[in-house]
Amino acid sequence: MSSNPSKAGVVSFEEARRIVEEHAAKLLAAPIDLRTNDLRATDTLDLLAARGRVLAEAILADRDFPPFARATRDGYAVRATDVERVPARLEVAGEIKAGDSAATCAVKAGQCVAIMTGAPLPSGADAVVMVEDTTITEPSKHTENSHPNAAESAALGWGTLQKYIEVQRSVKSGENFVLRGAEARAGQLLVDKGRWLDHALIGIAASVGNSRVTVFRKPRVAVLSTGDEVVEVDAAPGAAQIRNSNSYSLAAQIEEAGGKAVRLGIAPDEPKRLRELIEKGFECDLLLITGGVSMGKYDLVEQVLAEMKAEFYYTGARIQPGKPVVFGSCGADTFVRAVAANPPSARTRVSAPHYFFGLPGNPVSTMVTFRLFAQPMIAALAGAWPEPLVFLKARLKAEVGTKTGLTRFLPAVISGEFENGEVELAAWQGSGDTAALARTNCYLVIPPDRERIGAGEWVSVLLP
Ligand code: AMP
Ligand code: MG
Repeated sequence: MSSNPSKAGVVSFEEARRIVEEHAAKLLAAPIDLRTNDLRATDTLDLLAARGRVLAEAILADRDFPPFARATRDGYAVRATDVERVPARLEVAGEIKAGDSAATCAVKAGQCVAIMTGAPLPSGADAVVMVEDTTITEPSKHTENSHPNAAESAALGWGTLQKYIEVQRSVKSGENFVLRGAEARAGQLLVDKGRWLDHALIGIAASVGNSRVTVFRKPRVAVLSTGDEVVEVDAAPGAAQIRNSNSYSLAAQIEEAGGKAVRLGIAPDEPKRLRELIEKGFECDLLLITGGVSMGKYDLVEQVLAEMKAEFYYTGARIQPGKPVVFGSCGADTFVRAVAANPPSARTRVSAPHYFFGLPGNPVSTMVTFRLFAQPMIAALAGAWPEPLVFLKARLKAEVGTKTGLTRFLPAVISGEFENGEVELAAWQGSGDTAALARTNCYLVIPPDRERIGAGEWVSVLLP
């Protein structure tokens, strides 16, 4: 790895992604707060307020799950041996519903107990026969005849507790209920720390009684826009000026990725001020710079970072849009080495590393390169285990032709219902065309070796 940006080089898409994941993994292995050089800070929050944060504590089962043998069907708790041969006539000894204690009734030979989903299995029973598989053998006050029809019996059978029922279908011991502790034993690890708290994990935390959870602090991610032509969004732009839309789209992507965005404004295409603002950005956990990384005379970002002794892991990726993307750091390698040499709880005296991305200024390039490369770093800084970049598969609606050599992530529309997903390219004017994004909902991924992909072929799709 070189501090000379021209030597770091342009890498393939996969290599660029792999390099980011490698750094993300190192950061995660050293659970250190980049700004304080101390262990990563945490917050203890109300469960719902913690949604979208990363768990800093494990979630354990506080008791057996389920805490009792639990019926999973409405029907009759039986002894499987009593219904080996069907039809089998059984005496209904009682009824047990969800919330009742198992001690309220028992099943003896030749008997059954009417049971509802979620109720505990009474003693003596070792299976549940579904109500649909039973018939009522004598008229109740709701009916005049017996019901050979199972569905009708299910609909009507519950009105009055029958004295006898007839089981039409055998069950094996253990059928239609879950044993106590079958899902988890008391004290067992349900969710390890390092997982994003999503709705499913919130449900798990709630089920073990955690109305508050401890999560990691959100990483602060600085956004620095560059360009003499760029003006703030609420300013009136001159004829040749462009509004700083990237700082907003990036801030939104950062928040969606679990970070806290810190917008630093606009650096002119002038080294001194650019350097001052980069230094300010280094006060955050990660710095995203937009614009100024292309080959133009006034693309100064790499030059200024090189003067700051930055290391460049790559200075371009063979992708479209977003080819000029830059990833590097100031001081990361010394930091990671020092932390690895210490027990994780020990304070290190090495100054914190400053990771940065230089994202190309074209708005679609900025969004795509954030999605592909910046996201895993934010996840790691948030304390989350890395997640692979997953492409979905859909059928191509209309033929696509491109030049080979670049992995392309082209704005596209995915449509079609259920398993019939179809994707087609959107009309766009290139990576500056933000308006096109309003008509699209995904990126069509075209591998670098494909010149033509025919209609109906399976293709990869990346969700934004
Ligand atoms: P650059 O990467 O600096 O060469 O910029 C590429 C294109 O993106 C130019 O047309 C810029 O005007 C545009 N651009 C750069 N920065 C921004 C920004 N913050 N918001 C919107 N467009 C931008
Ligand atoms: Mg520029």
